[in-house]
Amino acid sequence: LKIGTPKEIHEGERRVAMTPDSATALQKLGHECAIETGAGHEAGFSDAAYEAAGVEVVKTAAALFKVADVVAKVRPPTETEVKRLRKGQTLISFFYPGSNDELLAQAADKGATVVAMDMVPRISRAQKMDALSSMANIAGYRAVIEAGNNFGRFFTGQVTAAGKVPPAKVLVVGAGVAGLAAIGTATSLGAITYAFDVRPEVAEQIESMGAEFVFLEFDDSELPDGAATGGYAPPSSPEFQAKQLEKFREIAPDIDIVITTALIPNRPAPVLWTRDMVEAMKPGSVIIDLAAERGGNCELTVMDEKVVTDNGVTIIGYTDFPSRMAAQSSTLYATNIRHMMTDLTPQKDGVIYHNMEDDVIRGATVTHDKEVTFPPPPPKIQ
Ligand code: NAD
Repeated sequence: LKIGTPKEIHEGERRVAMTPDSATALQKLGHECAIETGAGHEAGFSDAAYEAAGVEVVKTAAALFKVADVVAKVRPPTETEVKRLRKGQTLISFFYPGSNDELLAQAADKGATVVAMDMVPRISRAQKMDALSSMANIAGYRAVIEAGNNFGRFFTGQVTAAGKVPPAKVLVVGAGVAGLAAIGTATSLGAITYAFDVRPEVAEQIESMGAEFVFLEFDDSELPDGAATGGYAPPSSPEFQAKQLEKFREIAPDIDIVITTALIPNRPAPVLWTRDMVEAMKPGSVIIDLAAERGGNCELTVMDEKVVTDNGVTIIGYTDFPSRMAAQSSTLYATNIRHMMTDLTPQKDGVIYHNMEDDVIRGATVTHDKEVTFPPPPPKIQ
């Protein structure tokens, strides 16, 4: 079959779902590959590099959708792209089916199979296809780089002939995949790093990465039970949240950089860094809010913008951190896609076997045989 990747059309999106290397691997599965001209340009992959890897370069998106049996892309399809799908064709991309009802119905109506990369179950066997994690890892890293770029001082403490420089103090709120990547990056740059998460079980991971876990004095029995929600954070109780805010308020004047990543599935981001905390921070401090797309963890975040407050605190609400490292994200995302194709091509003979009995494939498939197949039944194996 032919796997085709169009150029992303979302404004500012620089990633691409196929790289010359991933195309080489896809061909080893017995598939042919095609790409829309210029699709890899902003991620650093030229048409010539694809051609050298045996990829057919197609002139337009319309032509690409026509020749491809499987369309692999990054962002959820636009309405125009869904209209281009046809019966029997497969689309693999982020899709966010929970908030894209209409597109989902249209894709089902077209008879196309949609594999949503954001729906890959987060079980060990599927880690190689877990694009949410591979992108979150990049976002966490890039958040620290962005913070450094907006912070007028060193991360690491130094004693120089020109004077003694104190190390920067970084607080990471939320220690999921992005938060842990941010912790690792900040500590490796020499900052003193603190981290907080509502799931106490991550304290060990935080400490193993060289950061200090910010403990709250709280009766254990009142802590939210992460195990009951598949590892994700349940919403905190008002009492717990009050304690958390009290702690943050206490440390705000001493923290130079705050990186927030706190999310609860299917809910707006909890507001954890309030106006008065921003006002208590020193001039020159930086807040990077990775939860901006879901409303932000900081009360003053403006989505997709950088704002500087009256007291000189920079607050960044960009939502495109992976796209800002397009070469790296494209490489990892294309590898996630390639692994998905490997599972969809069990005989490595260029023939897709869409096995709806397979937990991972079933979990990620949101339309199939003219039906909407979202939400999936709970996975059998954990
Ligand atoms: P996420 O992006 O959904 O959330 C980020 C973090 O914010 C989470 O750690 C969450 O506990 C935390 N959080 C929520 N509310 C908070 C609050 N009020 N204050 C502070 N922190 C708060 O998380 P994620 O990176 O997608 O990871 C979530 C879970 O999924 C973790 O348990 C992770 O280990 C697990 N996971 C498993 C796999 C796998 O097994 N393949 C892969 C990725 C993630």
